[in-house]
Amino acid sequence: MKTTARVVVIGGGVVGCSVLYHLTKKGWSDVMLIERDQLTSGSTWHAAGGFHTLNGDPNVAMLQSYTVSLYEELERISGQSCGLHKSPGIMLADTPERMEFLKMTVARGRYLGMETEIISVKEALNYFPFIEEKYFLGALLDPNEGHLDPSGTTYAYAKAARLGGATIEVQTKVESLEQKPDGTWRVITNKGVVECEHVVNAGGLWAREVGRMVGVELPVLAMEHMYLVTDDIPEVEAFNKSAGKEIGHVIDFGAESYLRQEGKGMVLGVYEQAGKPWSPKNTPWSFGQELLQPDLDRIAPSLEIAFKHFPTLENAGIKRVINGPFTFAPDGNPLVGPVQGRTNFWSACGVMAGFSQGGGVGLALSNWMVDGDPGFDIWGMDVARYGDWTTRNYTNAKVRENYSRRFRIRFPNEELPAGRPLQTTPLYDKFIEQGAVMGDSWGMETPLWFAPKGTEAKDIVSFHRSNDFEPIKAECKAVRNGVGVTEVANFAKYEIKGPGAEAWLQGLMTNTLPKIGRLQLCPMLNHNGKIIGDFTIAKAGEERFMMWGSSQAQVYHMRWFEQTLPTDGSVTITPFGMKLIGLSIAGPKSRELLQRLTDDDVSGEAFKFMDYREMEVATVRAHVNRVTYTGDLGYEIWVAPEYQRRLYESIMEAGADLGITNFGMRALLCLRLEKNFGTWFREFRPIYGPFEAGLDRFVKLDKHEYIGKAAAIKEKADGPKKTRIFMVVDALDCDVMGDEPIWVDGKVVGWVTSGGYGHYVEQSLAQGYIPTECFKPDMNLEIEILGERRPARLQMDPPFDPEAKRMRM
Ligand SMILES: Cc1cc2nc3c(=O)[nH]c(=O)nc-3n(C[C@H](O)[C@H](O)[C@H](O)COP(=O)(O)OP(=O)(O)OC[C@H]3O[C@@H](n4cnc5c(N)ncnc54)[C@H](O)[C@@H]3O)c2cc1C
Repeated sequence: MKTTARVVVIGGGVVGCSVLYHLTKKGWSDVMLIERDQLTSGSTWHAAGGFHTLNGDPNVAMLQSYTVSLYEELERISGQSCGLHKSPGIMLADTPERMEFLKMTVARGRYLGMETEIISVKEALNYFPFIEEKYFLGALLDPNEGHLDPSGTTYAYAKAARLGGATIEVQTKVESLEQKPDGTWRVITNKGVVECEHVVNAGGLWAREVGRMVGVELPVLAMEHMYLVTDDIPEVEAFNKSAGKEIGHVIDFGAESYLRQEGKGMVLGVYEQAGKPWSPKNTPWSFGQELLQPDLDRIAPSLEIAFKHFPTLENAGIKRVINGPFTFAPDGNPLVGPVQGRTNFWSACGVMAGFSQGGGVGLALSNWMVDGDPGFDIWGMDVARYGDWTTRNYTNAKVRENYSRRFRIRFPNEELPAGRPLQTTPLYDKFIEQGAVMGDSWGMETPLWFAPKGTEAKDIVSFHRSNDFEPIKAECKAVRNGVGVTEVANFAKYEIKGPGAEAWLQGLMTNTLPKIGRLQLCPMLNHNGKIIGDFTIAKAGEERFMMWGSSQAQVYHMRWFEQTLPTDGSVTITPFGMKLIGLSIAGPKSRELLQRLTDDDVSGEAFKFMDYREMEVATVRAHVNRVTYTGDLGYEIWVAPEYQRRLYESIMEAGADLGITNFGMRALLCLRLEKNFGTWFREFRPIYGPFEAGLDRFVKLDKHEYIGKAAAIKEKADGPKKTRIFMVVDALDCDVMGDEPIWVDGKVVGWVTSGGYGHYVEQSLAQGYIPTECFKPDMNLEIEILGERRPARLQMDPPFDPEAKRMRM
């Protein structure tokens, strides 16, 4: 066995082999895969082998589409058959909501170039002849689906990787990992030690155990999964003969099942409600190529529906039942990328659809390792989207929930209950008492909206405007006309200190840093000049900065900060997490309210827009920012959690005669929309440049050096390729939700990033991107909402306070 390699990939399932192949394709040939048993020995060998391109996250869908397009290349290079059967797939809708969901899915796929379309139930019979028509309303047709031979495909990746110079050691178990002071690794196996620069965890069913070797608890859990293979069904053969093709793939949401042809029979797999975790604490190393005991009772309720929907299957004999485990992350998407807090330790696990996603995972990870960037927007599968709050038990609850919802619709206003409440602030009970409907924000309970007295504090889930519409309107109006208070605990907050703090921070941020006592909005770019963060930064002292950013991106950002921090100890960065939480007061009467609570002079002259102060507010020591996301006069007041209740009670007491009103996250997002403010991971993502995103004011090209500056200069010189636009939509009772296609002059050219109803300005609003070459002030705009093209018009200025007088008053 070789004793050195540039990269060691642990795990010879489809994912590890794909990573290995892609690394060689990128030109790294000194790469080695170590597999404790034979290739495919984890979950890979017993997979049903289906593949498809659709995914709720369009960026993940794009990588799935890449995976599907890869197989022919792989067969060509390796000479090994993947056993490809390309056959169209259909998704069947049995309720009006599912029909809307399918229309939305087709629309979302348009700008990705997906060829999906809505077809009638009659037309669906051309692909799947067993449908009992009366149960269905329509279907989505995806021509790019199929199934393959899981083992053949894994060996094809492995063979292609070997041809590129990779080595593969089977029957070799990685027993532990040691990091040397220079950041390189010693991979200790039962057959000796391999020294390498990078380690990739593609341990599949054992990914948790491999993570634990470096002290990381990855949020993955295996679930048992069953599918049946039927005996030959005469009608299958008859269809093949008469139609001259295989029976297509089917997803039946109602029966929570997928079906496809296998030989002259069918495969029927079920994502049942009573899903069962497998080895929730430790995966036994002794587990090999064996199957679990089938439990047909568990899937009986789904089978009953499936047999009603497809009666031909009811009489088919069952040839075999496969019950095997495979892993999921809490949201069902993979965990990919460098693991924060560890050097050169990469994750490629939690891949629940190895044959739809494995290629994309390999491509993104190899780009990341070789070029320093995944090359795509892979936030939806970045391992950094989870934090230390995703404990084993939380993961267990969420994975079970996700499994049971595999074929369920997630409505835009739907919050999922499993594992909650997890993190709560001291105001949690107080908000609930006042009718708050809570949502989950990166594991933390956050008030979304407040149900008026006498109404139920619960979302009626829908794609349309729902029961929160009127209460949110009232909250928005209360802010704009008087004063409102909202909790803003769910931000990421950091303190940066030390003699090197200013130089380091300045080297990351496109905007010049603020002077002491001032705030500055600062985008952050990667080396390719794409947006990887936007922060509000305060200079709190000569060598001390406070910084606020997106809560969900805290691990993502810490990973970047750790990579760029000077090694001489001249700078420290500390995330506050829940040790600093806040309340924001906003609206024209917010100054009067703040003045009642502090001895400091907070007049417009003494405490200006974008000022930062440390002051006492209502007997509590606080950091106060004169800025709010509402785009109105307002303040963010940050305190230690033990003081938050005191602060809130004081605000409510002092603001009573000013009509102070609670407002939630949804109202906040509506208010920011009226100002055309962007949000992280919607308008600002690593696929956009700062000039494309319209952040020109915050990007200095002639003042200081920072990462990504050369690329930003080039973007400016060449002209941004995309343009972020703001639109007023002629919506009916459904506003945009994000990812809808934008049509210009009858062609899909762009997509919506976010939007909703602007309750104060009484307009349906949307933000999105189109290619700059399509941008014309008089362009004919439409947005496809739930399958219907609604007229839209370009809005150049924010509809609320276009001159920004309110923020500055
Ligand atoms: C019943 C069933 C049906 C499925 N159907 C489909 C389907 O139709 N389509 C689809 O896309 N997906 C399907 N899947 C899921 C699919 O199998 C997985 O997505 C895929 O196998 C994940 O591959 P992996 O490489 O991540 O993990 P694994 O296949 O588990 O591979 C991990 C490998 O790492 C090795 N390993 C772990 N630790 C060590 C160590 N310390 N040292 C050395 N080696 C180690 C293991 O031996 C194993 O071979 C199905 C799964 C099941 C169970």
